[in-house]
Amino acid sequence: MNLIVQKFGGSSVADAGRLLRVSQIVREERDAGHDVLVVVSAQGDTTDELLQKARGTAKAPSQRELDALLSAGEQVSAALTAMTLEAQGIPAVSLNAWQLPIRSDTVHGDARIAEIGTGRVRSELEQHHVVVVTGFQGVDEAGDLTTLGRGGSDYTAVALAAAFGAERCVIYTDVDGVYTADPRLCPTARRLERVSYEDMYALSRAGAQVLHDKCVALAQEKGVEPEVRGTMPKSAGTRVCRVSSQRISGVTCREQSGDDLAAVTVVGRALPSLELEKRVILALNAAGIVVQGVDAVTGALTVYVKRGEARKAICLVHDAVI
Ligand code: ASP
Ligand code: MG
Repeated sequence: MNLIVQKFGGSSVADAGRLLRVSQIVREERDAGHDVLVVVSAQGDTTDELLQKARGTAKAPSQRELDALLSAGEQVSAALTAMTLEAQGIPAVSLNAWQLPIRSDTVHGDARIAEIGTGRVRSELEQHHVVVVTGFQGVDEAGDLTTLGRGGSDYTAVALAAAFGAERCVIYTDVDGVYTADPRLCPTARRLERVSYEDMYALSRAGAQVLHDKCVALAQEKGVEPEVRGTMPKSAGTRVCRVSSQRISGVTCREQSGDDLAAVTVVGRALPSLELEKRVILALNAAGIVVQGVDAVTGALTVYVKRGEARKAICLVHDAVI
């Protein structure tokens, strides 16, 4: 099957105008002769807003009910995406997790996909429909909805690409690829043409928002090569694949829970390196940022700084090592 999986993140489906752009991207692939399976996240900040609503309603809502609530966000955007496609003359159908089904374990809030039923999607594709699937959710043995962890729509996309043997799996986002640091924070960051599964996984675990860590692990296991690209025309993108690690592939940051520190992590095969560690600490000190702790392991160096200094620290660390 000549199938392409396209995943669109929350900002790419945020409003009617963005959805129109999504329909253009889908049309291009259809015109090139591909079947298209679309995976969508909830629109914009919907998931955070739903969480807020839950907190405003009950002190300690159960994970089961939280999943029932949060999964609604993706259902809304899947239906709106299918409507937009149809309005543009592209036959489309939206499907929720239980309609495939996307079976998961029962770990509410952080479920793992166990198995995907392919019959319904195949019959829709045979009728030349674009199939729009809700990201971020599964259905457990009891028939209850689960969610796959924040940012989990990427994981859905890779799982579907593997289940259907898709030719390509494209993750559309609001940046045009994987950068050596978040380009919105660090103007000197550059796009990587390719990044290894190992480095991408390490970056995701260390806080990079670009791909979900379970998604990267599954991609590696199944040999899926996700392409991360922007929705703007001619976005060059980054391919996550089996290549050797870069000397340094990137810098990212994660807030520590429980204290007021942030962990700034550098990933790459040049690590650990005392020389690089010294350079990082000197660069931070020169800017008046005190390093509160250091962790060096194979392939990664983490420095801990005060939360409020994290954004500045990312750029300083980036420019010291890249
Ligand atoms: N909407 C969910 C979230 O915000 C899942 C996703 O965006 O992939 O975490
Ligand atoms: Mg989202």
